[in-house]
Amino acid sequence: MRVRWLLLAIGVLGLVSSTQFLPPSAQTLEEAARYFETTDIENGRRYEHQRLWLYWAGQVAQLTLLLVLVFSRWGSTLVARVRRFSGGRWLVQLLALAGLYLALTWVLLLPVRVGRHMHLAAWGMTSQPWASWWRDQALGLVVYAVSSTIPLVGLYGVMRVAPRTWWLWSALGVSGLAVVYAYLFPIVVAPLFNTFTPLRETAWKDRESRIQALIAKAKIEVGDILVADASRRSSHSNAYFAGFGPSRRIVLYDTLLMAHDDAEIDTILAHELGHWLHDHIVKGVLLGTLAALVGMLVLRRVLSGAARRGVLDMTSAADPAGLYLVLLLIWAGEWVALPIGNAVSRHFERQADRVSLELTQDPESFQRAERTLAKKNIGNVVPSTWNTWLFATHPPYLERIQMAESWKRVEQRP
Ligand SMILES: [Zn+2]
Repeated sequence: MRVRWLLLAIGVLGLVSSTQFLPPSAQTLEEAARYFETTDIENGRRYEHQRLWLYWAGQVAQLTLLLVLVFSRWGSTLVARVRRFSGGRWLVQLLALAGLYLALTWVLLLPVRVGRHMHLAAWGMTSQPWASWWRDQALGLVVYAVSSTIPLVGLYGVMRVAPRTWWLWSALGVSGLAVVYAYLFPIVVAPLFNTFTPLRETAWKDRESRIQALIAKAKIEVGDILVADASRRSSHSNAYFAGFGPSRRIVLYDTLLMAHDDAEIDTILAHELGHWLHDHIVKGVLLGTLAALVGMLVLRRVLSGAARRGVLDMTSAADPAGLYLVLLLIWAGEWVALPIGNAVSRHFERQADRVSLELTQDPESFQRAERTLAKKNIGNVVPSTWNTWLFATHPPYLERIQMAESWKRVEQRP
């Protein structure tokens, strides 16, 4: 085992993770104090820092496992045993290696997931009983096993059929799968975890006409407006739109409907409509395809180099013995893609925020909604710049509130 590789990688992770805990500047704190109470600011920071510790512990555990599997003698022995056991049948070898990895990570990361549930419970953010939590874990494992095995079998299948052009077909396949998944997620996966009820059949049915009026104003056709029983699991509140074609729908968490007044819900819903008006799903898929193409080209280069040097006794790039190297590269690729993808996401969110303000002409309710969301979700309203840069899919609460403030100044000049 090349111990220095492991130490170097963990050192880099440690360095990056430490930037996540940096304190906010005095100016940011002062700005935040204009909109938030001091205790809420402090609680948001503490809540997020505890969550980050768990997250980084999980990342270190996963990276260590991958590095051990790829670079240690123990790892190569395991891969060699599986090769003998599979008797040269590539599919058996692939499935056995993938299954082993799945089992190992599931067990390894279990303490982190248990810790996460305890963390949520300690802050009063979940009332989900452990029995139901374990059911979610088991279900999640099945969904994860299916949704990760299909692309891996596809990848190795294509590598064997088209040894020269597999990178191109695989990248297209990845984006095709993303489209299928985006289509199936709301109708197949999400209902496994929550119950979705049409808004008009819930206790909030009075809000239907107001919401329909807003949708009509945006000139958009929406399939269903559904309410998810998210409160069953946690008090986090959210709204999202999902799917496309007949599966397209707006989902409101019941926690959202409980926490916000009509005008606030309008601004949140108008934000979701903004995503729609800007075709963010389509743009996301196109950008994802581009990323997959770059990723596959890198993968091809590394795999053929590794096969030449006989890493893990690989005979060719298409040899399933290299699976753990592929998984290590995917892990690294996801880290490279994370800040880029999140920068794009924050850009999309800003566009949706603008639509929300233009549709509702109600910056006060927009700001109130942000403040309620931050308080309900114990959001960190003063995240470190690094934290936003790396992890934030949305602009920080404070930035969104200030954006509404400047919109007010420009658009609503007397
Ligand atoms: Zn959004």
